[in-house]
Amino acid sequence: MKSSPELRPNRYDALVVLVVLSLAALLAVKPFLAARAPQSDTLTVVVSADGRELDRAALADFGARTYESNGHRLTAVSADGSLAVAESDCPGQDCVHSGAISRAGQSIVCLPARIVIELVGAAPGYDLVTG
Ligand SMILES: [Zn+2]
Repeated sequence: MKSSPELRPNRYDALVVLVVLSLAALLAVKPFLAARAPQSDTLTVVVSADGRELDRAALADFGARTYESNGHRLTAVSADGSLAVAESDCPGQDCVHSGAISRAGQSIVCLPARIVIELVGAAPGYDLVTG
């Protein structure tokens, strides 16, 4: 960081505050990103039932997988970088109707089956923060 003698003290203080705030924000965000984005450019599908992890796979390798939980069965299918529940025998079909997800942090929930399908990984641009 450069400190120019031409800067007035109050401006310098403001700059320091700004830098400290930026660093604090960076430190606050970094563990969150590290925990959720083990690979910077790969999306991972995490499937949980009743809060327990059932399955974890790269979105690119996911294909079509069927899960059974709480007396219901659903099939999730990945295509073109997105993931959707293609079929389910749950009442309501909310998980099917919720459509495709394609970005980190998005999820599909099937309440009757207690299944949560989540995409984790970094979205484009997050590398600026982690670097
Ligand atoms: Zn459902």
